[in-house]
Amino acid sequence: MVSRDEMIALDRGDALAPMRDKFDLPDGIIYLDGNSLGPLPRHVPARLAEVIGEQWRNDLIKSWNIHGWMQMPQTVGDRIAPLIGAGPGEVLAGDSTTVNLFKLMAAALEQRPGRKVIVSQSGNFPTDNYLAEGLIRFSGGEHELRLVDGDDVTGAIDDGVALVSLTQVDYRSGYVQDLAAVTKAAHEAGALMLWDLSHSAGALEVDLHGADADFAVGCSYKYLNGGPGAPAYLFVAKRLQDQVSQPLTGWMGHAAPFAFEQSYRPAPGITRQRSGTPSILAMSALNAALDLFDGLDLGLVRRKSLSLTEHFIQLMEQRCGRFGFALASPREQVRRGSQVSWRHQQGFAISRALVAQGVIGDFRAPDIMRFGFAPLFVRHVDVWDAVEAIEKLMTSGGWDRPEFHQAAAVT
Ligand SMILES: *Cc1c(COP(=O)(O)O)cnc(C)c1O
Repeated sequence: MVSRDEMIALDRGDALAPMRDKFDLPDGIIYLDGNSLGPLPRHVPARLAEVIGEQWRNDLIKSWNIHGWMQMPQTVGDRIAPLIGAGPGEVLAGDSTTVNLFKLMAAALEQRPGRKVIVSQSGNFPTDNYLAEGLIRFSGGEHELRLVDGDDVTGAIDDGVALVSLTQVDYRSGYVQDLAAVTKAAHEAGALMLWDLSHSAGALEVDLHGADADFAVGCSYKYLNGGPGAPAYLFVAKRLQDQVSQPLTGWMGHAAPFAFEQSYRPAPGITRQRSGTPSILAMSALNAALDLFDGLDLGLVRRKSLSLTEHFIQLMEQRCGRFGFALASPREQVRRGSQVSWRHQQGFAISRALVAQGVIGDFRAPDIMRFGFAPLFVRHVDVWDAVEAIEKLMTSGGWDRPEFHQAAAVT
């Protein structure tokens, strides 16, 4: 069994170790929820203060031009692009993942008029499937949402399918879909492919170009640390940009927003995916947070992530195997994202009790305890200490108190 000192030695040899100090983490906690809300990077408050105090206060409305506010959805998108294997002018920052899903699902259906099926997984993130349901209702109810149980979706893709809409890394299990293989299967059937990269970007290497993907969306408040409710992003492959339209045809996606023309004319390129005025404060926080990824080797990030999750699985099985935790994440490394989940009948109460002790993971109904290992700040020693805390809690029975059984609005 690996010792605590051996884990500390791994941290000493970790080329990413200096990144941890770039975050303003509270004392006394082990934060294993960076996959749900990334922590505050130290330099972000000062940058936001500058945007508020200098740009907003002093330069007022001139800032739209002189501080590049108007272009921020594109310029921030261009900074996200290299993290997901996209090129300049292919990614737009803004709106929420939910809204971006709606735009791109609608765009895809319009591109495949004769086809009436959207393929997704029953275990996909709820918003993805809810949006598909809503879109189908509003577009006349002629489409079918075909939900696949389990992770193998390719068998469900036939020549009636307009769109395959999947999340690359499953939010519950952390299962990683084969981006290239599934995209290829969709294309071979004549369907379009939409990837939700919410649990991928910033944690593993994503190659949208390599996979020849059509569309993608994702969150930037998880591994990208953009702040609560940070602007999301969307990707449309260059080859499709001028042929697709989207339903939220607001003035910011117009070819000439300040001509105030009578009728909508889409802007060329990715800009037509814009809808309304971007939230500049939120966009500025995200823009600053992205500095952490400048020049960062994502291969290194992925290797550290796998080392953390591998050690967590091993230590949990060695020290806590007798307490009834069942691994809900893939053992195979290529199929495992940057999180490890365990099923446990008392998962909710155990996870609340752990939070009370400063080990912050989360819980996903019905019985999943989820631990995220954001490689920029989680250390090997944190993995060891978290398992120690879980073992102690299970041995003492300290998780079984009434307050830990009480539901909260956000789990
Ligand atoms: C977190 C997450 C979202 C969140 O969407 P919002 O619009 O930001 O609420 C969407 N999809 C997936 C797969 C997620 O993990």
